[in-house]
Amino acid sequence: MSKPIIEIQGLDFYFKEFKALDQVNLTVPTGSIYGFLGPNGAGKTTTIRILLDLFHSKNQQIKIFGKNLLSHRGEVLGSIGALIENPSIYKHLSGRQNLEVIRKMVGVPKSRIDEVLKIVRLVDNADKKAKNYSLGMCQRLGLAAALLTDPELLILDEPTNGLDPSGIIEMRELIINLNKEHGKTIFLSSHILSEIEKLATDVAIIDQGKILYEGKLEGLQEKGKGYQLTVELDQVDEAAKIVRGLNFTVSETNSRTLVIPIEAKTDIPKINKAIVDQDIDVYQLKSSDEDLESIFLNITKKLDQ
Ligand code: ATP
Repeated sequence: MSKPIIEIQGLDFYFKEFKALDQVNLTVPTGSIYGFLGPNGAGKTTTIRILLDLFHSKNQQIKIFGKNLLSHRGEVLGSIGALIENPSIYKHLSGRQNLEVIRKMVGVPKSRIDEVLKIVRLVDNADKKAKNYSLGMCQRLGLAAALLTDPELLILDEPTNGLDPSGIIEMRELIINLNKEHGKTIFLSSHILSEIEKLATDVAIIDQGKILYEGKLEGLQEKGKGYQLTVELDQVDEAAKIVRGLNFTVSETNSRTLVIPIEAKTDIPKINKAIVDQDIDVYQLKSSDEDLESIFLNITKKLDQ
């Protein structure tokens, strides 16, 4: 694995007595598009706020660019560009004027404004007042502002939230371009698996403040390899006993069906025969591949049990 750009170890965070983060460990490889995935309220924004030094935790052990965040605060934060929630934009100013305000604060040459406008594809609308921008254009302007200092690492909190389908595609293309053409490492959060799936090289899944998976996207796909067999029958309890006797687990039962995770299609006749041999009528057998969405749901559902 390439050198980590962010390393978080054993991070806890409390809002009063409420534990929002519980022993969070994350390792973000340099050069990756790292998808930080979790349902609403999972702890994504809290983690991001800690990374940007907006919240502090007593036990925080965070290294960014190999440096301790607390002891190298200024240096570390100076090399991070961030877009969290809605970017603060002066609506009465044009896109270019907004960038000029920030450029003066961060002290980069004026020429950088045209460069970032080009990257986020806002050149043609640069002199329009921001009040006439679409939400997608506002997000891109926010991203342009984050890029002014040419940071190595971009942290984006739900960058496609609220965008229409074309805005989502534009933002996605932009993120990929920033990673591939401009060499930025991108840490982005989302609650939408299909978004992360299209972008990320690496993923972490967080739910209820706990990390449930971290690794390559393919690893997550690998985790879900296998099938789900749904069997429709009358005597569900008796059939479940038979299936368990064959060393399968029964993941779900209701009044007429059993759901059984299986490794291979050859398990289907085996299960069917065992049930039928006990004089239980089987009405239907249905098998399906597990897609990423159901893997994600299964991983996050386990925590509720
Ligand atoms: P979302 O996408 O909905 O923002 P998230 O994964 O970013 O979700 P967080 O905003 O990090 O989630 O919230 C994590 C948990 O902490 C949630 O249960 C939330 O209700 C709680 N929380 C967040 N901010 C505060 C706060 N200021 N005071 C108390 N609890 C908070």
